[in-house]
Amino acid sequence: MALGRCLTSHAWPKGKKTDYVGYVRPAGYPDSALICGIPDCNREAVIWLDTGEVESYEKGNRIFKGPSHFTKMKANGEGVFK
Ligand SMILES: [Zn+2]
Repeated sequence: MALGRCLTSHAWPKGKKTDYVGYVRPAGYPDSALICGIPDCNREAVIWLDTGEVESYEKGNRIFKGPSHFTKMKANGEGVFK
């Protein structure tokens, strides 16, 4: 499950069951609609991916789910930052 977190204060998030191994930039970054999910943080977010999601990205997938069905996130094509 992907997460949206900023690079400034909340980089390399640690999930209870998920190891985030890299991030991708959302479509339109840095002027995208994706904002860090931490309460009281309104910085631009990147999309943090686990191992399976990185593999999926590298096969061409650009759409990632978060922990709820509220919305999904679309990555750009710049590649994975590790
Ligand atoms: Zn943040």
